[in-house]
Amino acid sequence: MQVRLWGVRGSLATPMSTPQLQDKMRAFLAEATPADLATPAARDALIARSPQAMTYGGNTSCVEVSFDKQVFILDAGTGLRALGQKLKDEGRDKDTGLHFFFTHFHWDHICGFPYFGPIYAPGREIGVWSGRSDAERLLALQMGDAHFPVKWANLPSKITCTQLPEDAPTTIAGATVRILPLIHPDKAYGYRIEAGGKTVCYLTDTEVSKNPNRVAEVYANFVRGADVVIVDAMYGFLAYHDHINFGHSTIFNFIDFFHDVDLGELVIFHHDPMAGDPEVSRLCADARRYRELVAPHATWKLSAAFEGQCWNLG
Ligand SMILES: [Zn+2]
Ligand SMILES: [Zn+2]
Repeated sequence: MQVRLWGVRGSLATPMSTPQLQDKMRAFLAEATPADLATPAARDALIARSPQAMTYGGNTSCVEVSFDKQVFILDAGTGLRALGQKLKDEGRDKDTGLHFFFTHFHWDHICGFPYFGPIYAPGREIGVWSGRSDAERLLALQMGDAHFPVKWANLPSKITCTQLPEDAPTTIAGATVRILPLIHPDKAYGYRIEAGGKTVCYLTDTEVSKNPNRVAEVYANFVRGADVVIVDAMYGFLAYHDHINFGHSTIFNFIDFFHDVDLGELVIFHHDPMAGDPEVSRLCADARRYRELVAPHATWKLSAAFEGQCWNLG
């Protein structure tokens, strides 16, 4: 199984601004010595080691989970467009199994769907799965009326929308898929996907921070043994208190939930559009420090999601 992140931003696509880019360049140049700039190889080495030579990215939620000849796509935010292009470039757009899994149908999780090339391929079969019974109606709405030039009813592909049960696992293309109701306006569901002995969990968008004790055990049991666990950690501890009832969480609650749970890596996801790269890096550093304090024996890794982040789980 391979897991790759195509969009990690919450709520609204957030391109880097020129002042943000210039701040990054200033910091990058300040850490360079004359020797670092002397040759192409030295410059490449500087780029490879500098924390300034990356960005978390501005596209909204989209996660690829690939195994065998299957591509599972968790949410269809703006990151989806580049995934569609890569599938085409690699010739995987035609014969690979394609299945979407929607947490929910807020704009930031669906607005990449009309820009996904395979939906325009005649006869192309595409599965759409969610915890709701009305996924087709909700996806059609964003391509209806004056919202998009191509209407859902005119798509030449064969898109089949299916509701997943909450109380039992479902086998899809050889994978076992479980869902978990989340705490979010308009209903959202988290996913646990197991294939070939590897497991990824995807829990965005959800507000566990308001009443964490009530859900700690449910979440711990849902992710137990997973290789990668991606969670809604949109806000820092103080910022959360300005956003109660917005439907999002802080990472600190998940660290509490999972402190003695066997996991591979816990991933901070759905970054605040108001947070630039330095703020996301600071949140990740705070989270690592908190983990050292409350869960020094935890063996899992902790990271802040960035576009292009990839796990080859074998
Ligand atoms: Zn969202
Ligand atoms: Zn949402």
